[in-house]
Amino acid sequence: MKEYMISRKLNVPPVSKERMEYLINNPNTEVEENEIFNIYRGKCIVCRKPSIVVHELIPRSLLPNSWRRWINRVILCNACHHDAHAHGTIVERDFLVLCRNQRLGEYWNIWLTQ
Ligand SMILES: [Zn+2]
Ligand SMILES: [Zn+2]
Repeated sequence: MKEYMISRKLNVPPVSKERMEYLINNPNTEVEENEIFNIYRGKCIVCRKPSIVVHELIPRSLLPNSWRRWINRVILCNACHHDAHAHGTIVERDFLVLCRNQRLGEYWNIWLTQ
C-alpha cells in the first residue's frame, strides 16, 4: 500500500524550472500535494528516503487560511515525521526550514535566506 502511494505521487509530471521560479517569487501560492512531492523529488527533506507524508512547518491550527501555501509544506518519511511531532513542531521548525532550504538549493539552485 505504501509503495502504491509513493508511485502514485511520483507518477505526475515534474515541476518545471519556470514553475519553480514562479513559486519562489510567489511563496504564498497554494499547491496540491503532488506538487509538493515533485518539488522535493519524492524524498524526505531530512534523510532523503522515499517520502509519503506532507508536513506543515506551521500547523494548520495556527494558519487556518494560509497553511496550503507551498513554502509552508514539506515532505518527510514516516520516521522523520514521527520525530518532528515527537519533539514538537515548534522546536523542530528551524531544523526543518534549514533542510527545506538546503534541498531547494540542491534541487533547484534556489537559495532562500528565511
Ligand atoms: Zn526522513
Ligand atoms: Zn506533520
